[in-house]
Amino acid sequence: MRPLQAKINLSALKHNFGVVRGHAPQSRTIAVIKANGYGHGMLRVARALEAAEGYAVLNVGEAVALREAGFKQAILLLEGFFSADELPTLAEHRLASVIHCQEQIEMLEMAGLPVKINVFLKLNSGMNRLGFRPEAFGAALQRLQAARSVGQITLMTHFACADEVQGIAAQLACFDRLATGLDAPRSLANSAAILRFPQAHGDWVRPGIMLYGSSPFADTSAVSLDLKPVMTLTSAIIGLQDLPAGEAVGYGATFRAEQPTRAGIVACGYADGYPRHAPTGTPVLVNGQRSRILGRVSMDMLCVDLTGISGAGIGSPVVLWGEGLPVEEIAAAAGTISYELLCALAARVPVVEV
Ligand SMILES: *Cc1c(COP(=O)(O)O)cnc(C)c1O
Repeated sequence: MRPLQAKINLSALKHNFGVVRGHAPQSRTIAVIKANGYGHGMLRVARALEAAEGYAVLNVGEAVALREAGFKQAILLLEGFFSADELPTLAEHRLASVIHCQEQIEMLEMAGLPVKINVFLKLNSGMNRLGFRPEAFGAALQRLQAARSVGQITLMTHFACADEVQGIAAQLACFDRLATGLDAPRSLANSAAILRFPQAHGDWVRPGIMLYGSSPFADTSAVSLDLKPVMTLTSAIIGLQDLPAGEAVGYGATFRAEQPTRAGIVACGYADGYPRHAPTGTPVLVNGQRSRILGRVSMDMLCVDLTGISGAGIGSPVVLWGEGLPVEEIAAAAGTISYELLCALAARVPVVEV
């Protein structure tokens, strides 16, 4: 069998959940498990995080799968329902919905639901993606309070720059101004805000990336935040090439050996979710030792430098990211963020729990 595997460390997942609790001990936790649990497997992650008071996903189908698997916690649809015909399913399965636009309120008002559904009313406090602008927020709230199909209303916003120097001050001030005096639970914080802004924890925190053991910050390592990597993408050397000086490796011949170079061919490529934009020099572990990739990443393979790697040969273990090699490093080399790499793990990669 092809040696590529994604190992999912469930105790690391639980540990990282504990880190969330440590930072936000007064808040309930909605574990964000959208995008197949950031590539780790939605149901697998939900099971490991049974202690969470809620889960957040995007689609009704995902939410129903969680209910059918027996989860009784709150389930939040992060973009809410997309059309009125989804509302009976929300009612049947007690799914909570983000409400971010007028059209959703109208659909709720028209729906004669057998039970009330809980909603998270979203304020656009400055990110300008989803949500009601501050001047429209009060009216939206009043309409929801008057709607027969609506149960509990939680006030919500999402930060654009919680992971950047700009921070959350302006958005938090906007939210606080509108929420002051309202007797409703609040939900604001993603991972970055959980870690850096205790004043924004509110009643429900919404951690995503930190649960998976990756740092939301470009300038702070996961280790220094006490986060442990959950996914380790591992493979092995399946071929060896002794490149004479002057020869190139891979498509486009983008890497050319300056001196005789021993290269290893690894069973992992962009069809597995490894970023094709990772250039020569992107770090990799071979036999537990740090090396670098050479040339272009192919669909099913990539090439690594075995110079100075002791004991490397066919079958030598390779870590593409995870334990011992933070996924943030690979993401930075490829000009992206860890979120994208984790989410892009391909369906063809076998997953094993450890
Ligand atoms: C994805 C998402 C989160 C989680 O963000 P992280 O940066 O991964 O912690 C929280 N809230 C909302 C609304 C989201 O869409």
